[in-house]
Amino acid sequence: MMAAALLIAPGSACAQIDNIYRFLQTCPDSDPAVAEILHDFTIRSNGVIVTQFPCTEPISSMTVSSYTDPLIVLQGLRVIYYMDRGMSGHLPWTPGTLYDWMKSQIKGIDVRSDVGGSYCCEGFSDGVYIVVKAQDDFNRDFDRSWSGVAGNIDLYAHETRHVAGYGHSSCCGIASGCDNMFETNNLSAYGVQWWLNMVWLYGLIDVGFSCADAGTVADAANWHLSSCNSVYRSRFCTNQPPLLSMPANPGGMCVVRLSILFSQALSNAQICWCSVTNRTYQVQVSSDLNPVGWTNLGAAIRGSGLTNCVTNTITGPPRRFYRTVTLP
Ligand SMILES: [Zn+2]
Repeated sequence: MMAAALLIAPGSACAQIDNIYRFLQTCPDSDPAVAEILHDFTIRSNGVIVTQFPCTEPISSMTVSSYTDPLIVLQGLRVIYYMDRGMSGHLPWTPGTLYDWMKSQIKGIDVRSDVGGSYCCEGFSDGVYIVVKAQDDFNRDFDRSWSGVAGNIDLYAHETRHVAGYGHSSCCGIASGCDNMFETNNLSAYGVQWWLNMVWLYGLIDVGFSCADAGTVADAANWHLSSCNSVYRSRFCTNQPPLLSMPANPGGMCVVRLSILFSQALSNAQICWCSVTNRTYQVQVSSDLNPVGWTNLGAAIRGSGLTNCVTNTITGPPRRFYRTVTLP
């Protein structure tokens, strides 16, 4: 009898989004969760409910003008929906996921072009909305990247935190732009933003940003680190959050999901995965799950950006496991 196992790298119990760069190239149309997302959250533009989100894949090929603010909001909500699905206890201000918490606090997000900045809140007949400022071409272009989307998500979380009555002070020298105290068990709006960047940086919420090439990973890691250590830490006057250092594996381990097809007729197994260009993959095989039992299956393979596969002739032990490790 043969069996195959999908091995998940330690530290990421289950990566809810395998590879954020690939995810952000996809449109809402192809996502089965969008109906539920748009049921839970209404997106408005200058107060008017938006129901159409024109989008073509890959998103990097769209013109900046067609990558609209409502579409960007929906992309952010899609990431929120998936990124920590099934997890609990990782956000001190709520027992479950960011999605469930936001859903419990707000009815939607209104993108407005007539405001100076984002704020909480605006009331409509169907509930409370956070307001985010419409963005210019430069920022919407940046919102194709993980850093841009992450910045939007932590902003949505910040504004949503105000619903529960968390306000600002001016103690740090910025008028109504400070929070008096950082308390893990009572996180304020800036505290929530700090926390999200921390868990992304350390891979406690693993969106697979470590699956890109080294330069892109470093950009994302530095974005989260400076968000924590500079941008949000300085907003506190008493008990600032701790200074963080760069972890060895920013964003957590890159988890590569394998699809394995056994053929009895051909006496082989085909092992496939979605690869990223500029990354190298080494498929390994083992007859058991002993950590020292892994041997390389063929040579390392340079990612094509598409599906990469290797074929393994089945002989020998009646049970085998496969995994793919990423090399720099
Ligand atoms: Zn605020």
